[in-house]
Amino acid sequence: MIAIPVAFFLGALTWSLLEYCIHRWLGHDARLRPNFFEEEHTRHHAHGDYFAPAWKKGSAAVLAFAATLVPAVLLVGVAPGLAYAAGLAGFYLFYEVVHRRAHTHAGFGAYGRWVRRHHFWHHFGDPRVNHGVTSPLWDIAFGTLRKPGVIVVPVKLAMPWLLDEATGDLREEFAGQYRLRGRRPAAEA
Ligand SMILES: [Zn+2]
Ligand SMILES: [Zn+2]
Repeated sequence: MIAIPVAFFLGALTWSLLEYCIHRWLGHDARLRPNFFEEEHTRHHAHGDYFAPAWKKGSAAVLAFAATLVPAVLLVGVAPGLAYAAGLAGFYLFYEVVHRRAHTHAGFGAYGRWVRRHHFWHHFGDPRVNHGVTSPLWDIAFGTLRKPGVIVVPVKLAMPWLLDEATGDLREEFAGQYRLRGRRPAAEA
C-alpha cells in the first residue's frame, strides 16, 4: 500500500503536470482549438485582470476530484486514494490562489517574485514558453523554460502592483525588470 503522504504528493504532482499540459496545449496550441479552456484563457491574456468565473473553476475542480477519486480508491485503497485526490484538488486550489495573487498583488518573498517574473514573461515576453505557473518543473522537462528578460507591459494591461499609485508610472523597485509601453490615460484635471 502507498503511504498517505506519498499519495498526497503524487496527487499534487499530477496537478502540476495537468497545469502545464492544459495551459500549453489547450491554451496555446492552435491545432486543439476550440476547446473548453482556450476561450477563457485567451480572454485572460487579452485583459490580464480577467479570470474565468469561480463557478466554472469550482465545477471543474469537483469534476476532477470525483473523476480521480474513484479510480484512485479502486487502485490503491480508500485512504491513499483519498489522499491522492485531495493532493490533486488541493494543489489545484493552490495554483488558483498563486496565479490570481500574482496578477493582483506585489507578492510575497522569493517565491512570489519568481512566480511573477516567470508568469509575466509568458504573458508579455513569449507566450510559447513558461507554461507552468506554480513551478518550473514541467517547463524544464519539456524544454520550455526561459529566463525572463526585461518584461515590457502594455500600460492598459499593467498589473496594479506595478504602478506607482500617485504618478501612474512604473514603481521604482521594478525598474530594470519591467518597462511600460504605450500611452497612459490622460491625467485627471
Ligand atoms: Zn496569468
Ligand atoms: Zn497563457
